[in-house]
Amino acid sequence: MGAWWEMRCEHGHGWSVYVQEEAEPAEEQLVCKEDGLPAVTAARLPLADRAEIRIVPATWERDGKTGRTDEYFFEIRPVLHPEKVLRSGSPMSWDDAIRCAAMFRGIPWSQAERRWRNIRVLRCAK
Ligand SMILES: [Zn+2]
Repeated sequence: MGAWWEMRCEHGHGWSVYVQEEAEPAEEQLVCKEDGLPAVTAARLPLADRAEIRIVPATWERDGKTGRTDEYFFEIRPVLHPEKVLRSGSPMSWDDAIRCAAMFRGIPWSQAERRWRNIRVLRCAK
């Protein structure tokens, strides 16, 4: 999992970059764009444990035919523990999946997990 890095130069300019995995910012990312000075501080800010949201096509395909072409499973998983997937039991429409997604916007994973159990996700489908 990546992290944000927040830098500051000795003139007080601040900037930030997102860096994948455990890597550190590249040399050029540690240079102030305003005056070319090197960063005097660099703080790593790991991602918070929030709900990652996936809308998974439920479409099947066999012998050149397809079905359920506009139905979707809805999934959430914690950003820091992506192996803990919660998935809707039945497929839903795109619009319902978007409605479900809105219910998990901007909240901590612990709250997202409670919300999932309380609403039994299919209830955000009409
Ligand atoms: Zn600067």
